[in-house]
Amino acid sequence: MATSTPNTASIRAVIGTAGHVDHGKTTLVQQLTGMETDRLQEEKSRGISIELGFAWLDLDASSRVALIDVPGHERFVRQMIAGAAGIDLVLLVVAADEGVMPQTREHLDICELLGVKSGGIILTKTDLVEPDWLELVIEDVSESVKGTFLEGAPVMTYSALQPDTIDGVRQGIADLVTEAEERGELANRSQDRPFKLSIDRAFTMKGFGTIVTGTSSAGALKVGDSICILPDGPEGRVRGLQVHGQATEQVGAGVRVAVNIQGVEHTEIHRGQVLAKPDTVEVVSMFDGTFKPLSRLEEEVPDRSRVLVHVGTAQVEGTLAWVGDDVATPGERTGVQVRLDTPLPLLPGEPFIARGFAVLAGYGKTIGGGQALTPALRRHRQRDTRRRPLIETLSEGNPKASILALVRYESTVGVSLTTLPSRLPFERALIESLIGELEEAGSLVVADNALYAIEVVQALAETAIARVNDHHTRNPAWPGIAPAELRTRVRSDLGQELFAHAVSYAIAQGRLHQQADVIAAIGFEATLSQAQERNTHALASVLDEGGTTPLRVQDLPTAIELSTSETEEAIELLIASGQATRVNKELVYLTTHIETLKTRLVAYFASHELMDTATFKEITGASRKWTIPLGEYFDRIHLTVRVGNDRRLRR
Ligand code: GDP
Ligand code: MG
Repeated sequence: MATSTPNTASIRAVIGTAGHVDHGKTTLVQQLTGMETDRLQEEKSRGISIELGFAWLDLDASSRVALIDVPGHERFVRQMIAGAAGIDLVLLVVAADEGVMPQTREHLDICELLGVKSGGIILTKTDLVEPDWLELVIEDVSESVKGTFLEGAPVMTYSALQPDTIDGVRQGIADLVTEAEERGELANRSQDRPFKLSIDRAFTMKGFGTIVTGTSSAGALKVGDSICILPDGPEGRVRGLQVHGQATEQVGAGVRVAVNIQGVEHTEIHRGQVLAKPDTVEVVSMFDGTFKPLSRLEEEVPDRSRVLVHVGTAQVEGTLAWVGDDVATPGERTGVQVRLDTPLPLLPGEPFIARGFAVLAGYGKTIGGGQALTPALRRHRQRDTRRRPLIETLSEGNPKASILALVRYESTVGVSLTTLPSRLPFERALIESLIGELEEAGSLVVADNALYAIEVVQALAETAIARVNDHHTRNPAWPGIAPAELRTRVRSDLGQELFAHAVSYAIAQGRLHQQADVIAAIGFEATLSQAQERNTHALASVLDEGGTTPLRVQDLPTAIELSTSETEEAIELLIASGQATRVNKELVYLTTHIETLKTRLVAYFASHELMDTATFKEITGASRKWTIPLGEYFDRIHLTVRVGNDRRLRR
């Protein structure tokens, strides 16, 4: 037996056994690898596998495959599902003396539902039957796998009592791996996806503390990494790692791992939980995906069926809500929203299995399964006709199309940039680079830390244009509407950046323009009523007379013989048209005087570094009453900056 430390790189494929209880799976794995996988006392004494067994097999000096031995008994299908979820190839084990049995069929179906693409059939216990019988069993098995991924798969024969038959099996496995590799069917065990380990056991060991064992389905984990246990969330740190019983510094996906954890008690951890890095794997209570009821079902599966949902080692009760269909037809794939009674940690793209509560004749309880594609944020309603196309696009697996579909689906809600990678079955780096491309192509925009489809920006631009026009109709005297006011009129909760995108879009389209501090429709001209004409005229001449020392706002109504509200309106109209400038609440200048002052200041600074208070008074021809607010105003518009008691020009 090779003793080199196994790491992910050296494991070419993960192979799982499948088949009815007592058909010789564990014996086969033991003879292939020399490893005992039934290690629990209960397993040994009852002669039955309860947990998943893990072993590895060296096909040649440089390639090692991992073997997962699953329990065959009906009661342990949960463990079988957990083991089969990560495998590349399956070995369907059928005892020659018994032939195809209920869990032979159920395991085959589960593998198919989990997306296993190929494998082989091994007929065991050939010593117990006559050659004629063997022929019949081979025929029967071949018939049973028709229409499944194992149709036409190689059939190997083996007997534990005839040790030389194991060589044929070993060679058969080597061929299967090579062929699967050539067809590109071995899983891409990406290290760039979040690390996820489905826990099957937690215990404590003297001198080590908490040990958690399970199968890693994605990502990588190193000694020293921070971890958390989901869905509950206690956090700790990795003290040590073992793969197949040997210490290692780092583990990847698709391997059997024991993690020594610091900071979490073993009593806080149990089967069905997930070990992940903090803030990388989302805990979800609903997800959208695809679902295929088994073709062997005799009836359609009604909407809102109650089932047991299996994801990794987790098993929770839940409801299947069909998306776009009233019922699910056996053998036909449909869209589904799965609602979980208890939230589960989920990586988009993971397979899941649904089991009912009653055993089907000659079979188990599995009714179907599919792929969990994206966490669902809202309950599906039948009138939502857009969810089905979203699921269809996501199931096709094209990353760019998927991002666009999700962003379009979320419409005005947008898709937060932070959560996007946990909503799609792709690597973070790939998602990030595709967002850049989609932005460049004008298909979506990034605003307020979220993604929006360009269609959303276009619709908001149309609303903005309509609101601007309303404003013009109701306020013909006003040159336009203030951006902040327009934003809340388009939508009260509209984000700053998204609003800015919408306005820019309308401006680029030549339909709006932004002037001074207001947004207006292209072609609109403000027209004052006769009274407004008169009042603004009167106000402008009083302000003009005031020059650089105008009257305070509170004294203006008396000076122009108008009411306070008429005066206020006239002030705002002059400001809106750009003729007047507000310096502060109490001071309004005619804009020409402000411009004159600016010119004088700039001229002074052409030959002086600093300007003191006395010079400022001299240049403005005003006393403190005006120079203090004026100074603050020029600072505010970034013309000048204070240096102690002096001012200098801002560069
Ligand atoms: P599993 O439940 O599929 O894992 O089956 P096991 O490997 O535990 O085997 C069940 C029983 O069948 C055990 O008593 C084995 O010794 C026996 N067995 C396994 N392989 C053979 C075989 O090739 N020939 C015979 N005669 N018995 C076998
Ligand atoms: Mg077994």
